[in-house]
Amino acid sequence: DWKETLYERKFSKNLKIRAMYLSKLFIPLLRETPSDAKIKSHQLMLKTGMIKQSSSGIYSWLPLGFKIMKKIEQIVREEQNKIGAQELLMPTIQSAEIWKESGRYDDYGEEMLRIKDRQGKEMLYGPTNEELITEIFRASVKSYKSLPQLLYHIQWKFRDELRPRFGVMRCKEFFMKDAYSFDLNDEEAKKSYNKMFFAYLNTFKRLGLTAIPMEADTGPIGGDLSHEFVILAETGESKIYSDKRIFDIDISKHNGEDDSINGLRKKYDEFYAVTDDKFKKEDFEKKVTKENQLVTKGIEVGHIFYFGDKYSKPLNCSVDLQDGKKVNVKMGSYGVGVSRLVGAIIEAKFNNSIMKWPESVSPFEIAIIPSLQKNDKSNYLKAEKIYNLLIKNNIDVLFDDTDEHLSAKFKKFDLIGIPYQIILGSKSTDDKFEFKEVNGKTETLPLEEIKNKLLNKKSLN
Ligand code: ATP
Ligand code: MG
Repeated sequence: DWKETLYERKFSKNLKIRAMYLSKLFIPLLRETPSDAKIKSHQLMLKTGMIKQSSSGIYSWLPLGFKIMKKIEQIVREEQNKIGAQELLMPTIQSAEIWKESGRYDDYGEEMLRIKDRQGKEMLYGPTNEELITEIFRASVKSYKSLPQLLYHIQWKFRDELRPRFGVMRCKEFFMKDAYSFDLNDEEAKKSYNKMFFAYLNTFKRLGLTAIPMEADTGPIGGDLSHEFVILAETGESKIYSDKRIFDIDISKHNGEDDSINGLRKKYDEFYAVTDDKFKKEDFEKKVTKENQLVTKGIEVGHIFYFGDKYSKPLNCSVDLQDGKKVNVKMGSYGVGVSRLVGAIIEAKFNNSIMKWPESVSPFEIAIIPSLQKNDKSNYLKAEKIYNLLIKNNIDVLFDDTDEHLSAKFKKFDLIGIPYQIILGSKSTDDKFEFKEVNGKTETLPLEEIKNKLLNKKSLN
């Protein structure tokens, strides 16, 4: 078979990208929609082999899903770094001791997975890290001169949720970015809070989402200032009440300077936007005119808290001030559901049975979809030439080298969701190819032009 001789070229040698031949990609597509999957993100993720359930609420991430999650993680990381947060990595398993010190060991209840090591020492799989980061901080920071500090990590968490459901949206083991701020006083701490507020808006925007900060209850984390970042979705578990004008705020006018960030915070504070637990009918009616009232459902993708000395006090985390007095540091914590975001983006972008990943997180930048029925060798060689050229230009491409009928290929790619396609079918010639933007227009263009378009888009992302 003439294809056999090409096998050694089926993995990209360009290590910057993970371009692939579809026949070689580990992507266990399902024909049927699994009946236990109730919402579209869960269905799509199973159908396109992004994840596989390992046990209730616990999933393996297969190559396609993993690649997308890693891209989301990287954007989250970059926006944290931009505001001066420093990345570290804390373990998943924690000692029960610090949780006893903070008083949360008993409060946290059944959601915490408690385990013992062989010496009988009480351990737990971390559901969050306020205690552990406070312990790290108190052991190493002694002086006011080291403040402020913003630290974060991106790590697996475990919460033994009562009813895991909706796939990666509410599961037991999930991937979270959690950051912690340390400041000398309330005023400084609010600056850190606002910085994080700004970073979150930028993060979600880069992920192609409009996430609205909603005033929220602080729940078991504690404190008095908190926002949930919520994206609108029918399948969301959070009920939200807002002034819909809050959706029109343009964050691109604001930069990372303190004044600019505070200005942005003020704009958001002008509009009523709260989650269920904070909702008061009288306030809503009074502050929002009828035509601007929006009552709907959303998915919480991030949650930020300011809780002052709630943990630093019991855990005795203090620094020396200039005059020798000691003060408990003022802390906040800031979470982003990195793995939940994979599902949330699907809920937001999968419409009329067509998925289109935002370019920033798409598993591949473009798909080459040639008609290869009856072993169409000339189409195959053309497609391969395109593939090689794109790789040379660091464009991450998926080449559908299977011999399925074109219509079957299109159906498949409707689900995989790569935003651009080069189609080699009846309309392409020797030097011009169909270039299709999913949910957009299709043009017949020379390869050079397609390449340049892609490179331009890349530089914008
Ligand atoms: P929820 O109200 O949805 O239970 P939470 O308030 O318990 O969330 P946080 O402790 O603030 O969540 O966690 C930070 C982020 O982690 C959340 O905004 C969410 O995106 C994500 N997250 C929380 N619990 C889960 C879960 N069980 N499965 C997947 N992601 C989760
Ligand atoms: Mg919450």
